[in-house]
Amino acid sequence: MLKFIVIVTLFLFSHLYANEKVSLQLKWKHSFQFAGFYMAKEKGFYKDVGLDVTLKELNSHIDLVDSVISGKANYAISDSALIYSLLKKRPIMLMMPILEHSPLALLTTKNINSLEDFSAKNIFINKFSLKSPALLSMLYVSNFDIDKLQSKDDVYSAQDITKQNLDLYSVYTPNEPYYLKKHHIKYHLFSPSKYSLDFYGDILFTSENELDKHFERTIRFMDASKKGWRYALSHIDETIKVIQQKYNSQHYSAEELHYQADAYKKLISKSFTFNRQKLDTIRTIFQLFYKMRSTFDFDDFIVNPFIATKEERTFLKEHTIRCISTTNWAPFNLIKDDKVVGLGIDYWDIIADKLHIDKSCESVSSFSELLGEIKSKEADLTISTSATKEREKYAAFSKSYVSFPVVIATKKGVDYTPDISSIKDKTFALVKNHTATKMLLAKIPNLHYIETKNLEDALKLVESSKVYGTAEILPVLAYTINKKNFNNLEITGSTDLEFPVKFMIRKDYQELLPMINRVIDSIDKQTRKKIYDRWISVNMKNGYSKHQVNKFALIGGGVLILFALWVALLLLQIKKRKKAEKDLDRLANYDKLTSIYNRHKIDTFLTKQMEIAKRYKRPLSIIFFDIDKFKTINDTYGHKAGDKILQELTALISKYIRESDVFGRWGSEEFLVISPETDLQSSKVLAEKLRKNIEEYHFTEVENVTCSFGVIALSEVDTLDEAMTKVDKLLYIAKESGRNRVVSDVED
Ligand code: GH3
Ligand code: MG
Ligand code: MG
Repeated sequence: MLKFIVIVTLFLFSHLYANEKVSLQLKWKHSFQFAGFYMAKEKGFYKDVGLDVTLKELNSHIDLVDSVISGKANYAISDSALIYSLLKKRPIMLMMPILEHSPLALLTTKNINSLEDFSAKNIFINKFSLKSPALLSMLYVSNFDIDKLQSKDDVYSAQDITKQNLDLYSVYTPNEPYYLKKHHIKYHLFSPSKYSLDFYGDILFTSENELDKHFERTIRFMDASKKGWRYALSHIDETIKVIQQKYNSQHYSAEELHYQADAYKKLISKSFTFNRQKLDTIRTIFQLFYKMRSTFDFDDFIVNPFIATKEERTFLKEHTIRCISTTNWAPFNLIKDDKVVGLGIDYWDIIADKLHIDKSCESVSSFSELLGEIKSKEADLTISTSATKEREKYAAFSKSYVSFPVVIATKKGVDYTPDISSIKDKTFALVKNHTATKMLLAKIPNLHYIETKNLEDALKLVESSKVYGTAEILPVLAYTINKKNFNNLEITGSTDLEFPVKFMIRKDYQELLPMINRVIDSIDKQTRKKIYDRWISVNMKNGYSKHQVNKFALIGGGVLILFALWVALLLLQIKKRKKAEKDLDRLANYDKLTSIYNRHKIDTFLTKQMEIAKRYKRPLSIIFFDIDKFKTINDTYGHKAGDKILQELTALISKYIRESDVFGRWGSEEFLVISPETDLQSSKVLAEKLRKNIEEYHFTEVENVTCSFGVIALSEVDTLDEAMTKVDKLLYIAKESGRNRVVSDVED
């Protein structure tokens, strides 16, 4: 059913998304430079996320930044010049880097070897390249007089380079050197990145407006584009074919496109994420170069898939988040080298990292104190807890990032209890305010219990037999029993309670919630497993100081115990599930009163048998019978007696039918016997046998019960309905002609 809902939802959504037209303004003419975008289109990655993307080739009149701000294009590609635009307060948002380094360089075919030689030279920079900072900053560093720079409006071809008597030319490395190489012309390149002037090349960006109105679409576009790029880079030949077929406005040869592919492969970003330090350096270079005083924070101008709205961005900017945690709830939180660490902290680290907020998490001494601080708004957030009605008054809760069962620890040797209800008259020690305690009390409100400050105190009470047991979330309980050497205690029961571990946030900071949830959603299985392994199964011994090394063997044993426990619990869960499946099967296919097949089951069985009989021309018969005057029996002896008769009757019939026959309850006191591979004659004989045995049987409550029978052969009948109408008619004739008899189809 769930699968069905998912499919229907996907279907609806794919239609909802369909035809969402967006455009990408390219930075240049078609070439391998935009391979990823072509392939995202070609392989349906955009379509998969409901986007119909138009790729616009550059024509010289277009200003890339203007094109997105004016809404002429939803997205566009430019380069590090965008950082200059940001200093100029243009309302744009950077999405992702495509080229990690600028492909621009100065090329010379003359004997020029260092930047110091530049000042006396004749340098030519293409008008388009003049807009990007890479070459200008290299000239700046070289002490070349920028005023002497030559520029030209037109795009020039590589051939021009050799014809004109210029010393240095700006070139786009994936394209122009190909010509020189092909003509065996020797050249030397000056690339800015070699002089620590490492600028991003192509950068995908959008307008603030597009992001605010269509955050989710922007993320979809970005993710599908990344996918396109990864595909293009691992399928170069296929990509080149696509370019030649559909995007070859520049008439590149396959060889030329391969040359480009090789060049771009070296420049392309591996992660498609920005490096803040690199961005800061680029910003500083611009500020120095253009003597600008303005500045900005990149956090505000980089699309973050976890921060959807301007309000969310502003919230993060205006608030510092104070995280607090206890340190006695290992493996979720504990102290190691004077620092709070643990499974919960690992998740917090990821969230803080993705949202660019401070990772630090302060320790508080008790969980009650922690709740108090969140309530009084001294602290903003804590990492590992769960929701309760009381807490929801002053706090909000994230999605759960892991979940574990709540289990019971007692003295060793106690029988395993699969369900706490069976020991609810025992006395427990429960930790004050802990979520597991709240969950348990919600389930069993009148449970006898003693409140303790922490789990260790609770376990001590169990150990000294003052209470029967304690309950806590599985890994915490296992960890504490082992770590604190409660050697005569063990986990002996489960509770059916599942503890979803969540972040808890002070209620007036709810803006944080969707952002945290988005990060939680994005954490992949591998990362989850890594964290899990770090704290649960592998490194339980971490966090112990050297003088505790002698305890390692024991703790190692603890890991084994924990592991065995897991297996035991898993097996238990499997057993439970199997039982549930069996129960479900009973419910779906068997009649409750008589324990024979119900209508649903014989319905499906009969349909299948009819199909087989027809296809392979095999005989198939059914016997339909009904108790005579059952209403009167009920009225005279009572409904209970009637039920008993139904049970005795079905037991009796079951005895006389054959292994291959299928017997079921069709309705109130009507039954069906399906006999595959049986012709009408044999079926009639069986029916007669059944009739006689019922007639002669002494039922407990009533001396005599009789039934009337209809029998038909089914191989010729088309549908189940037809068959039942026909056999019902025969049964009716049996009733009308005196009951307690068999009436069958006329044989041919
Ligand atoms: P006939 O000979 O024409 O079949 O007479 P009848 O009284 O059996 O008439 P009919 O088949 O219409 O009545 C069926 C009765 O069976 C009606 C209902 O009270 C009784 N009945 C149906 N299901 C149950 C049941 O699960 N337990 C009991 N005790 N009685 C049932
Ligand atoms: Mg009847
Ligand atoms: Mg009836």
